[in-house]
Amino acid sequence: MKRAGVFTVLLLCIVAAAQKPRGAQWRKIGDFANVPEAPAKTLIQCGTLIDVRTGRAEKNVLVELAGNQVKSVSPGVAGANQLPPGSIDLSTETCLPGLIDVHTHVLLQGDITAEDYDKQLLKWSPEYRTILGTQAARKALEYGFTTIRDLETEGAGYADVDIKKAINAGVIPGPRMQVATRALDVTGAYPLLGYAPNVPVPHGVQLCDGADGCRKAVREQIMYGADWIKVYSDRSYYIDPNPPAGISPAPVLNDIPTFTVDELHAIVDEAHRQRHKVASHATAYNGVHNSVEAGIDTIEHGDYISDADLKLMVQKGTYFVPTLYVGEYVAEGRAKAGAPVWLDMIKISADTFRRAVKAGVKIAFGTDAGGFDWNIDPAVEFGLRVKYGQTPAEALRSATVVASELLGMQKEIGAIEPGKLADIVAVKGDPLSDITVLEHVDFVMKGGVVFKK
Ligand SMILES: [Zn+2]
Repeated sequence: MKRAGVFTVLLLCIVAAAQKPRGAQWRKIGDFANVPEAPAKTLIQCGTLIDVRTGRAEKNVLVELAGNQVKSVSPGVAGANQLPPGSIDLSTETCLPGLIDVHTHVLLQGDITAEDYDKQLLKWSPEYRTILGTQAARKALEYGFTTIRDLETEGAGYADVDIKKAINAGVIPGPRMQVATRALDVTGAYPLLGYAPNVPVPHGVQLCDGADGCRKAVREQIMYGADWIKVYSDRSYYIDPNPPAGISPAPVLNDIPTFTVDELHAIVDEAHRQRHKVASHATAYNGVHNSVEAGIDTIEHGDYISDADLKLMVQKGTYFVPTLYVGEYVAEGRAKAGAPVWLDMIKISADTFRRAVKAGVKIAFGTDAGGFDWNIDPAVEFGLRVKYGQTPAEALRSATVVASELLGMQKEIGAIEPGKLADIVAVKGDPLSDITVLEHVDFVMKGGVVFKK
């Protein structure tokens, strides 16, 4: 650099420093300088703390944090007035680990009918949808979900990668995210559908056909930031009047499988080869069966799973992510739009859930939030899970310990324990006797930083 150049830069720095308001922080957006810092040391007094591993409620617990991590968990002080200044007093609250939702769509704003869906893809730009997505991410965090797995953008490209990046950079508030980017389905199976062949329309997924074509799509999505590969394994659900021999229980909810088993194998093989996992939207018999056979890691929805496939899932360690609430949310609207099977599916999915609990399948907490309005707290799912056969402690474990294992983050999150990230939420009341109190989280801390108080 020439002398004059150096001088000019120096002069500019001096002018800039003079203009900086006294005591203000420079905010370098996008430059990783905006992440709120956790204080070096914090004490939290919890009236009750739920040990999610044992399902026990411990009274009067003191949690000590060092930066973004939990340092110790010990019997707490008797009164809040004995806490040192700067401590967080939750002595009238129940503390729990930050909740984890492993099936969300921050880029979707409710989708009961095809009309709702088509509007978002045809009339809203990806930029506008991303703005709404940032709002959904903030809401998820404020509801108490400190980590989410977002299972595809529904036509909004790779915007989930950018939302995750903006959260990690501290540009916007939101949960820790794992993302699936565009998802995969075969030609002719995923909306937008029903438009004239000469009218090009966007699709809610990346289309791929054939083992090699799908392998390439997996490579592309991983290249652009996918943590997970998501596939749609079935569509067009119906109660099968002539189910395959030996499949129980009846009635069998059947489907049109999308990918061939050969294609699914290629997708799973390519993803696993690159140390990524695969989530499969599989609602009915064929979709679930083919996915489990192909070695997929998580079954999403699983409204109908045969007894034989539940057994296979236990053997293979496949996770089950039921989504009971969204099924009830969309049923009536979809029945009115000409698909009454969605009303039958409420009963069928409740029965599958009961059988899965009994069979000992690993059940994780996912909601499909975004499939329903983000103004509804996704924690409504907890109530249905308890109604259909889990104990409140099991439901809580599914949204903490089990979900952290599904994400491969069990060393960092899922429990309030020394060495783990300080993801802590608090509610009034006792979730072990009334799980619906989780719909009213009033304190949220993520990585030692308080986001809601
Ligand atoms: Zn979904």
